[in-house]
Amino acid sequence: MKAAVVQDFAQPLVIEDRPVPTPAPHQVLVRLEASGICHTDIHAAHGDWPVKPSPPFVPGHEGVGIVEAVGGQVRHTKAGERVAIAWLADACGRCDHCVSGWETLCLGQHNSGYSVDGAYAEYALAHGDYVVPVPDGIDPLDAAPLTCAGVTTYKALKVSGARPGTRVLVSGIGGLGHLALQYARVFGAETIAVDITDDKLALARELGADHVLDARTQDIAAEVQKLGGADAAIALAVSNASFQAAYASLRRGGTLVLVALPAGGKLELPVFETVLNGTKVTGSIVGTRQDLAEVFRLHALGRTRVIRETRKLDDVNTCIEEVLAGKVSARLVFDLRS
Ligand code: NAD
Ligand code: ZN
Ligand code: ZN
Repeated sequence: MKAAVVQDFAQPLVIEDRPVPTPAPHQVLVRLEASGICHTDIHAAHGDWPVKPSPPFVPGHEGVGIVEAVGGQVRHTKAGERVAIAWLADACGRCDHCVSGWETLCLGQHNSGYSVDGAYAEYALAHGDYVVPVPDGIDPLDAAPLTCAGVTTYKALKVSGARPGTRVLVSGIGGLGHLALQYARVFGAETIAVDITDDKLALARELGADHVLDARTQDIAAEVQKLGGADAAIALAVSNASFQAAYASLRRGGTLVLVALPAGGKLELPVFETVLNGTKVTGSIVGTRQDLAEVFRLHALGRTRVIRETRKLDDVNTCIEEVLAGKVSARLVFDLRS
């Protein structure tokens, strides 16, 4: 099978021919149909973060495909089903986080395309209990970006406290942001979209943003404060300056939700203003299997639109350049069905 492999953080990925793997008793073998390129895969391939993956590894955690074989202990997933392979490859299932609905915080978790091989390949192994069924009627090319970009922003909106009558700032209208904007509307909020490319600003307008701001030419915090300030700001742009602007856009009692993970990401907080304004700052990491099931259900109901372009796995390195140059309409997805 074909797989795109990170062999060295300083080198391009290499397309390798590898044997199709055999599932362990708790695993399923998935024949991938679609695999999205999340900006996280680029951070992984470059070794951007303090906890690094160990090359060689196969990135990819927006994998969607058909279960081709199941290990002897797998009870809930059957051959022939369409499933998603998300960032949460597995978790311990027993710690307080796992049993209280916060499996994404489990210290014993593994991550697809990071600590275990992921979905930039024709086949991938996954834990039979941690793959998420993709409902019939959802195009696998849509399901792929929903598997990380969708679930991550849906969860970020949940933790932001957005509800009808609130005002939500979405900073960065890329793979994650174009879906965050749509979930903010699903939650009933007034929406403000911020980006730095003309195409993304146009996309935000097309997706129904109430206000669209250009961080190249406008003082974001000043503009948002003129509107009354944001009750919640979702930070999705890979830029420290954008975190600072999102923080300063909040109204009193507002919540900043940090999601983007730039290399060496830092946010300096003024203690006096944070205390006096009762500001909340929280991190948000992907979402649970249940969150992803909800994301798929909303999509099947027609509440979200996935903006994506398809590519071939052989072009993985040019795809990465396209994402870094901000030239992608929202998400690139490898179509692996040929
Ligand atoms: P992306 O490259 O598709 O989108 C980033 C967007 O930010 C682009 O549209 C870009 O034009 C815009 N941007 C850049 N600088 C800006 C600025 N100063 N102000 C406003 N917009 C700006 O990336 P993505 O796949 O959406 O991922 C975004 C980040 O989120 C990455 O760091 C990724 O690793 C991280 N991420 C986090 C989680 C999580 O669970 N916390 C999950 C997935 C991805
Ligand atoms: Zn991701
Ligand atoms: Zn656990």
